[in-house]
Amino acid sequence: MLSKRRTLKILGISLISIILLPYKYLYSATKKIINPNLTKAQKDIMFNEGTERPFTSELLKEKREGFYHCANCGAKLFSSNSKFDSGTGWPSFSEALPGAFKTKVDYSFGMKRIEYHCANCGVHHGHVFLDGPSATGKRFCNNGLCLIFIPKN
Ligand SMILES: [Zn+2]
Repeated sequence: MLSKRRTLKILGISLISIILLPYKYLYSATKKIINPNLTKAQKDIMFNEGTERPFTSELLKEKREGFYHCANCGAKLFSSNSKFDSGTGWPSFSEALPGAFKTKVDYSFGMKRIEYHCANCGVHHGHVFLDGPSATGKRFCNNGLCLIFIPKN
């Protein structure tokens, strides 16, 4: 049987964690400009969840081996092994590198979509759909402007 004092202490600690939870969430969702050279178009997408026009990204024709990084913070997000041509006009990937992104449900434009953002710096990258052709079944539809490709060699 717990003493009254101990019970109060435990209750106090759980209350503090419940109160702090939203702050923790807000803190993790904070987006910061890390790359000072971001263009207006890049900022519109990353900080206001905009979308670039389809078939405009130079990365659509990128076929080399390497990694795709966050254009804001440089975090490694996708391997070229997971890239595929989805025909949608946006760079598409079947899988992200472990821990690269965090997700949230996005109800904008009357649709229910899964938005994903860089786990490191919080900026928006795209939406993930569950209609991919690969074994994962996932299709990460990424704005090309949010990515920097670094070839292996
Ligand atoms: Zn980032």
